[in-house]
Amino acid sequence: MEKTLNSIANKVQNQDRISRSDAIYLFNEAPDQQLSELATSVKKRFHAEGTATYLIMAIVNYTNICVAKCDYCSFYRLPHQAGTYLLNFDQVCERIDALRAFGGTLVSFNGGFHPKLRLQNYAELFGKIRERYRGQLEFFEMTIAEFMFSCKLSKLTYNEGAAILKAAGTRWITGGGAEILDDGFRMRHSPGKFKVADYFKAQDAVLKAGLGSTATQVIGFDESLDERLNHLDALRSFQDNAARKLPSFLCWTYKPWNNELGGKEINSREYLRWLAVCRIFLDNFENIRTSVLTQNEKGLEGLKFGANDFDLPTEDEVTQKAGATITHDFERILSAARAAGFKVQYRDPFPL
Ligand code: SF4
Repeated sequence: MEKTLNSIANKVQNQDRISRSDAIYLFNEAPDQQLSELATSVKKRFHAEGTATYLIMAIVNYTNICVAKCDYCSFYRLPHQAGTYLLNFDQVCERIDALRAFGGTLVSFNGGFHPKLRLQNYAELFGKIRERYRGQLEFFEMTIAEFMFSCKLSKLTYNEGAAILKAAGTRWITGGGAEILDDGFRMRHSPGKFKVADYFKAQDAVLKAGLGSTATQVIGFDESLDERLNHLDALRSFQDNAARKLPSFLCWTYKPWNNELGGKEINSREYLRWLAVCRIFLDNFENIRTSVLTQNEKGLEGLKFGANDFDLPTEDEVTQKAGATITHDFERILSAARAAGFKVQYRDPFPL
């Protein structure tokens, strides 16, 4: 065991890439302390020791109408069900103003697969919002998953869709909605959402159009370690081919309440250990982000396991409906980062 850990540590020290079996070994066998040290050594290739960055942001859920029917989702309502909503421009602005009152600087829009909204509708709404808050806020305007569905509904190729958004002024579409990028996982839990190859085709179109995007992963459903690694492997290859255009990778955890899948939440230690594996395996990602949204203060321990950045969210109905708790006592969260030994600094919304 010692020999294996030493040989992986040597690879990391020499800046050689670790293999899938190395990642499995690290996750299953490496003591926490060594895992933390290895992840920190990779982080130090990109970031000064003992530092971390953050920002205050809101995930504004403009509609909960969705026809994808993912079994792990606690948020969506089918169009005919009670409790559906689609926010209008003024209602969206109210939510944004609430974020501004907290001093936030980034809005990330996230809805569902709405069966009536065409891509042009999104482009118009986002354009109006950008105009109203010009110079005051930045926007992540869709997730890749929503973009894909909207392109299909609008009978547009991904290249055409990305070109429309680019022309309308969109700057970023997050890599959200990825969960676990493995077709077996997707067939079990969200067969109506997308196939993995299609996800990367859409990401590619977005980047080629000159828009920015990000990488994400959600863990803690019933996925196997192999499925998690299929996700990381695909991301690492995509990032190689995309000349490292994705600036960040964010991992968060599934919350099992109020949905069809249910299950038991994974513990924070598992999350932190996985985060460390992500930092070491994804050696072509500069920024690895830890999740305060799903881990609260415990997420700040992630700074010791390879992460260098985090959000302080003011709202996100999707995860709150599934059991996440959000605090607006930002000082309490920040003091957890300081107590962990990190100097934290507010950052600009871009380029992460
Ligand atoms: S996770 Fe997203 S796509 Fe899936 S049902 Fe929920 S809102 Fe729809």
